[in-house]
Amino acid sequence: MNKIKIRINDIVCRGEKGQTVLEIAKDNGIYIPTLCNYEGIKPQGSCRICTCMIGGRMMTACTTPALDGMDIVTNSDELEKFRATIVELLFAEGNHFCPTCERSGNCELQALGYRYKMMVPQFPYSFAAKDIDADNPKIMIDHNRCILCKRCIRRKKEKDNPNWFVFKKRGAKVQINIDHELTADFTDKLAQQAMDTCPVGAIIRKEKGFDVPIGERKYDKNPIGSDIEGLKE
Ligand code: SF4
Repeated sequence: MNKIKIRINDIVCRGEKGQTVLEIAKDNGIYIPTLCNYEGIKPQGSCRICTCMIGGRMMTACTTPALDGMDIVTNSDELEKFRATIVELLFAEGNHFCPTCERSGNCELQALGYRYKMMVPQFPYSFAAKDIDADNPKIMIDHNRCILCKRCIRRKKEKDNPNWFVFKKRGAKVQINIDHELTADFTDKLAQQAMDTCPVGAIIRKEKGFDVPIGERKYDKNPIGSDIEGLKE
């Protein structure tokens, strides 16, 4: 018998042996927030956003295999506060300026910020000096926005692809960097794939702009102010 039953928030949920708590919750229409988790990549439970009370203990839903009869709580006030705190820490640690980010509106961290009604983090911003690597012709990486979920590195490892992204530095200074040799002939498709893997706006595919500007600008034809009475020559 491969079928199992677990209780999530007092709802009986059915699943199969080998599935994680997160997978069964999803299959049964119960939302558990995630960040470092990505379909098709082995979960690692590093961001802790999916933490639930499993058998009375705080455990990550993405890495915990579901066992028949398990009792799980996903939505207590305590858990939601814990998750909101993680989101605030991520915002305080990086330099996330949503209004100027290309991924605004399509960012998993931003979505969680909205979900937890975050206005200003309770922690001081670190405003760490982080750089942007835009040397690759197809992609750029903005370290200011990276939340170190390692989805980019883990995805490549698992798909038997070369590691297009590599770790640089250690400890608190650890960085995800582009391997410029391996990505020298990166295609638009691969660049888009890399961008889609990233939950935030840290990996951005470079897109060509317009050869011809859209429309005609007034000031291209006449110098600014030339239509003002008294300034005309
Ligand atoms: S670059 Fe994106 S996918 Fe890679 S670790 Fe940073 S946030 Fe995660």
